[in-house]
Amino acid sequence: MPDWLQGRHALITGGGTGIGAAAATHLNAAGAKVTVLGRRAEPLERVRGIVDGTAVQADVTDRAQIERAFAAARAANGPIEMLVVNAGIADSAPFAKTSRESWDRIIATNLTAAFDCAQAALPDLLASAHGRLVFVASVASLRGVAYAAPYAASKHGLLGLMRSLAVEFAKTDLTVNAVCPGYVETPMTYESIARVAAKTGRSEEQSRSAIESQNASGRLVHPDTIGTMILTLCLPQSQDINGAAVPIDGGTSA
Ligand code: NDP
Repeated sequence: MPDWLQGRHALITGGGTGIGAAAATHLNAAGAKVTVLGRRAEPLERVRGIVDGTAVQADVTDRAQIERAFAAARAANGPIEMLVVNAGIADSAPFAKTSRESWDRIIATNLTAAFDCAQAALPDLLASAHGRLVFVASVASLRGVAYAAPYAASKHGLLGLMRSLAVEFAKTDLTVNAVCPGYVETPMTYESIARVAAKTGRSEEQSRSAIESQNASGRLVHPDTIGTMILTLCLPQSQDINGAAVPIDGGTSA
């Protein structure tokens, strides 16, 4: 991979694990300095140990923490020219049993935080010759999901945000896109498998098969597949890819 991103700064929320960690390593492999952001120090430090970059701790549901963390990231690595809005949470429950607290927590983390992070980085993104904003959405952005109404609503909202910004900034050098993965081999999916096992009494293996069968391919997606697509969207050469929502689940999912 040529150093197409040499010296440019990418900030990845939720960069300590799963898809965020894969995005951080791929962006760094293409030359970017990376900032990984999350709540827990340990996974962030593990990623920072293998990439050229910085770890900052923040809770993305708190706008003041985002602003402090982005300022620290800029001080370490310069203006944020690429922002990957990836931090997210999931839960599952029948709609009638879904608490208002769960709804608020999921919308705050997956959607309102995306608004706050995008706004906090916007001046840098617009000042860059190749500003890049990538949202990690989901196939749950493209269709309804039983037992996951707050999650699907938050991820549908994320696409509305992405598409609106893509139109608003279409005549600038900033592009705004989203990746829409199916089930990926990450801690979030392991939690889903554990929830299925706990709620249905099925074995871990049966629960994993049930989750895998929801992807068009019948298998989990590797995080590197998402990481390389995020890298592609961040390249200077991707200037005319704007407003795209890329489904990644091994088959047509929309
Ligand atoms: P992980 O659980 O590994 O990643 C989620 C990351 O988000 C963690 O690093 C977590 O770090 C961070 N995070 C969560 N809440 C906050 C918060 N309030 N403030 C800061 N950071 C936070 O799972 P994935 O890698 O799978 O998930 C990444 C994204 O991909 C999510 O948006 C998810 O919805 C999306 N996605 C995942 C799919 C899958 O099958 N796994 C499919 C489609 C989309 P920490 O806890 O330390 O804060």
